[in-house]
Amino acid sequence: MFNSLSDRLTATFKNLRGRGRLSEADIDATVREIRRALLDADVAVPVVREFTAAVRERALSAEVSGALNPAQQVVKIVNDELVAILGGQTRALQFAKTPPTVIMLAGLQGAGKTTLAGKLALALREQGHTPLLVAADLQRPNAVTQLSVVAERAGVPVFAPHPGNQGAETEVVIGDPVGVARDGVAEARAKQHDVVIVDTAGRLGVDQVLMKQAADIRDAVQPDEVLFVIDAMIGQDAVATAKAFEEGVDFTGVVLSKLDGDARGGAALSVATITGRPIMFASTGEKLTDFEVFHPDRMASRILDMGDVLTLIEQAEKAFDAEQAEKMAAKVSAGEDFSLSDFLVQMQQMKKLGSMKKMLGMLPGMAQMRDQLENFDEREVDRVQALIQSMTPAERENPKIINGSRRARIARGSGQTTTAVNQLLERFTQAQKMMRQMSKGGGMPGMPGGVP
Ligand code: GDP
Repeated sequence: MFNSLSDRLTATFKNLRGRGRLSEADIDATVREIRRALLDADVAVPVVREFTAAVRERALSAEVSGALNPAQQVVKIVNDELVAILGGQTRALQFAKTPPTVIMLAGLQGAGKTTLAGKLALALREQGHTPLLVAADLQRPNAVTQLSVVAERAGVPVFAPHPGNQGAETEVVIGDPVGVARDGVAEARAKQHDVVIVDTAGRLGVDQVLMKQAADIRDAVQPDEVLFVIDAMIGQDAVATAKAFEEGVDFTGVVLSKLDGDARGGAALSVATITGRPIMFASTGEKLTDFEVFHPDRMASRILDMGDVLTLIEQAEKAFDAEQAEKMAAKVSAGEDFSLSDFLVQMQQMKKLGSMKKMLGMLPGMAQMRDQLENFDEREVDRVQALIQSMTPAERENPKIINGSRRARIARGSGQTTTAVNQLLERFTQAQKMMRQMSKGGGMPGMPGGVP
């Protein structure tokens, strides 16, 4: 996600570090570097212009010359301006005073609307809402089926035309998308769903007929929110597409999808400024849980490699088994010994946190370590698990009793080498030592020593 932009900007700031006063020439050189980095990342030209002008003006002001650490002050200014181009404030969904709240999705074909419908439905369901998905994309033969699949995974019902007549790849669902959308909302009202998410037909390019269809659906269902979904990887076309949708359908918020991709992504960063509409959500993968509320400040701090600890904590809380964690903390603070079974539970919890790479990338300074992270092998957790499961319960509680022949036996039992057993026990001993120190210091256990 914005990796190359992030690398370029942090490299620029590194050049400033350690300088005392910054001359106008220093600032101009820095601003030039920033401009190049943004343009290379595909940020739209007018946005780059506005951005660099604001940064230059502020960097030349007393706010920097009077600062204790001018370089840091420049980073802060760039951060503030990034937050501003990303829309400033976090914007939450607006719910209707009288339910159902109607959310309509619009965007090009392949932008990720259907996937988003499932993600949003799941997130809303987890917050206690009762969403209904409406399949008003009758353009693509398989779209209705695709939405039904997503709905099932999200555990929410779907309202689709022609029940019993879906699924065949060759089938062309003939129908009236405006009517389906209207009926879907009526169904939601009748069945007391408090949110309706209407998926609409995408188009390959900006197409007037389909744009009119989207506008007709909008007029028929009077949505509380129209979310424009845009693929962050489409480059400079993003700006023209966003403008066309703004004129054709108008929208209340933007969703950036495929932010997990390694594309330059800067065009997507321009969308909030170009359209004046806030970015509300980010889609970061194909799984329904790869979904985040978009916080401009946190995203800016991720781009500047200042870390996004808040999102990290939220993701961790979602995945973490709090009860287990508390038990572990109690155990450690009571000075009880940390066993291999505890070690395994910790490793499994970490695996549940999903993509470690994504997670660790949110820690400050981690962009530097990205290459190492790329090499992190989540299967390592599986291998450790196999080893520990080949031990007897007594051995798991007290690994000291594992002698040479048992090590060979455990290796055979788990299909691994004796060296692997030795390495695990070595790592465990270190983790245990760390836990003992923590229990003396009264701190919470963090990661097990298992992370290479
Ligand atoms: P629609 O035509 O706008 O409904 O787009 P879809 O929801 O069908 O998505 C098009 C393709 O992009 C599918 O293969 C999705 O699995 C994939 N996709 C959607 N969102 C994301 C995302 O955030 N990250 C990645 N990597 N793929 C995504």
